[in-house]
Amino acid sequence: MTQSATDRFATLAVHAGVEPDPTTGAIMTPIYQTSTYAQTAVNQHRGYDYARSANPTRTALQKALAALEGGRFALSFSSGMAAIDTLLRLVRPGERVICGNDLYGGTFRLFDKVLSEYGLIFTFVDTADPAAVPAALAAGPARLVWLETPTNPMLRLADIAAAAVAAHKVGAWLAVDNTFASPALQRPLALGADFVIHSTTKYIGGHSDVVGGVIVMNDEAAHERLQFLQNAVGAVPAPFDCFLTLRGIKTLSLRMAAHCHNATAIAHFLAEHPAVERVIYPGLPTHPQHELACRQMAGPGGMVSFIPRGGEAAAHTIVCGTRLFTLAESLGGVESLIELPAAMTHASVGGPEAQAAGFAVDPALVRLSVGIEDVDDLIADLDTALTGR
Ligand SMILES: *Cc1c(COP(=O)(O)O)cnc(C)c1O
Repeated sequence: MTQSATDRFATLAVHAGVEPDPTTGAIMTPIYQTSTYAQTAVNQHRGYDYARSANPTRTALQKALAALEGGRFALSFSSGMAAIDTLLRLVRPGERVICGNDLYGGTFRLFDKVLSEYGLIFTFVDTADPAAVPAALAAGPARLVWLETPTNPMLRLADIAAAAVAAHKVGAWLAVDNTFASPALQRPLALGADFVIHSTTKYIGGHSDVVGGVIVMNDEAAHERLQFLQNAVGAVPAPFDCFLTLRGIKTLSLRMAAHCHNATAIAHFLAEHPAVERVIYPGLPTHPQHELACRQMAGPGGMVSFIPRGGEAAAHTIVCGTRLFTLAESLGGVESLIELPAAMTHASVGGPEAQAAGFAVDPALVRLSVGIEDVDDLIADLDTALTGR
């Protein structure tokens, strides 16, 4: 199925990157479970010589992911963290990275506990404040601006287009972790970003059955360097993982619509609930950046955070009191999950340096990854957990 430049997102999600298998006509890209490929003469092959360097299942996935983000190139990895680690190898020792102060916990750990030991310098700022990135760029040279929007778990937004202008003015790159929105709701390259990264483990895979990551970009030289690093460092995804991710992508458009629909209904339900103190959801008019969410995103997403009345103890009772929402880390799958970030996903950001840098996740904050079940069942489940009945 050759794709056309005018294909819309739901069409791309089904068709991009996938051609009927040339040898059999199989409609779905086969799992090329092989480590090497026969050569007809020395170095004579069909573009595939060793599976760390390239694999046809991975090629199809990379093409699909590039198309979904509206980029020219994509490189897939064995996890989101591997994608982030590889991208950060474009930054040299002594160079500075400006990044948000409520990043995904694993990203903060990689920056603060690993890459800083190799001489990269990280400046953490509140990227929800439109003045923060320009101020940090004015304070000294930087190679890269790193944004997460919406952030995890506070669901703060950063203005991607404004950050791109500010970064490019001083010759820095802008990278956006688009995991929470997915390309169905937000396309950072079109807003001026140089790199988009995803944990494809989340919405893109969508079924809680595979771990993976991707970098998408338009620049040919950056792609060449990152492809070299992908092969040199070697954190590549297995063919079966690529197949599962490709399979998940087919329904991304439908799933994101259902996630947004259900999360919107749940956010409104929680906002009215007497046992809830505060709800954080970009789709609520009470969200401080609701206007930016409407401008930058095609939908408010499937993540909802809230603080119950009764503090941490109440939060512990609630996360153990649901039937359909499973108490678990991760997000973005078809099934609803509930968790306590301060004690679970964000436990690694609890140290004093983290607190000083502005990473303070309220110990009572409950995070929901709203799935695609019937929303009335989900609301009834939350009501039971909140009221203890
Ligand atoms: C999960 C996640 C990552 C890390 O991805 P893995 O696939 O778990 O390695 C990075 N960023 C965000 C926003 C995430 O949610």
